[in-house]
Amino acid sequence: MIIVMKPRASEQSIQAVTRYIEENGLQTHLSEGEEVTIIGIVGDKTKISTENLIIFKDVDRIVPVTESYKLANKKFHPEPTAVKVGGTSIGPGNLTIMAGPCAVEKEEQLLDIARAVKACGATLLRGGAYKPRTSPYSFQGLEEEGLRYMQEAGKAFGLATICEVVSQEAIEAAVKYVDMIQIGARNMQNFILLKEAGQSGLPVLLKRGLCATIDEWLNAAEYIIAEGNPNVVLCERGIRTFETATRNTLDLSAVPVLRTKTHLPVIVDPSHSTGSYKYVAPMAKAAVACDADGLMIEVHNDPAHALSDGPQSLNFEKFAALTGELKPFCELMGRSFL
Ligand code: PEP
Ligand code: MN
Repeated sequence: MIIVMKPRASEQSIQAVTRYIEENGLQTHLSEGEEVTIIGIVGDKTKISTENLIIFKDVDRIVPVTESYKLANKKFHPEPTAVKVGGTSIGPGNLTIMAGPCAVEKEEQLLDIARAVKACGATLLRGGAYKPRTSPYSFQGLEEEGLRYMQEAGKAFGLATICEVVSQEAIEAAVKYVDMIQIGARNMQNFILLKEAGQSGLPVLLKRGLCATIDEWLNAAEYIIAEGNPNVVLCERGIRTFETATRNTLDLSAVPVLRTKTHLPVIVDPSHSTGSYKYVAPMAKAAVACDADGLMIEVHNDPAHALSDGPQSLNFEKFAALTGELKPFCELMGRSFL
């Protein structure tokens, strides 16, 4: 349920409403727009009387929120959220480019890639140090050593850094080295991990599960925000369908659908969704055209010898060409990068 206050409601009126709700054991979440303040309520609504609330001074109306996710809900927070990561902001007005290798392999390799992606306008360096691979015999990542290389490369080139975490232990290590953590598609409904990510204090990139509906995805975001961490960014990375020509099917319609349901920023990963470098550029452009807040793209110095996801990784030349081609799309959509 949300309480919409009258335009320019006084501070005392807002406080009187929040006090009444909190004294009855419920939580309030304030969203202060330019004219109107909205008070979101989380908890057992039977403990409060809406008949009483509606006659509080400056209360305009009470609107039920039927969706099970509340804090992630656009009704609770109509203005789009901008999530700050390092020196960058993911959200309105910007196109945030996160780029880097699927997996951190070597220190020099990562420094090379960081230099190349920075030169093309990326503001976040991505790189996996814990790799949840389909096969247990595939390269599983350098773990803490990989996180150290991420920190070093980020500092060397003025890039914020993001790494996937797969366990509480990985979160504890990640907070020491990187600026943002990523919950991968395979862990989107690992509710214990979501809660731990919520408690980490770091911004979280939440990838869509391989078979998750948009509502399930938003409920996963709710798990993180409910721990007191509002800094969640959603990442559409393709879903499982009957189609086999691409690794997954990129559900670009998720972007405008999410705009109607949530205030959280939404980015698109054209690499894991297509599985082939050939399709990364067209889908990246399409993502900008449908108003995504950013892109996550796998870039490798030598894709043919990458330890993971080489076939979908762009080499430096292809990444530079793509970022150049994105500029008119950004202008059209009123977003800037670089
Ligand atoms: C990744 O970004 O490294 C990754 C494994 O992606 P996803 O969880 O989307 O498969
Ligand atoms: Mn990958």
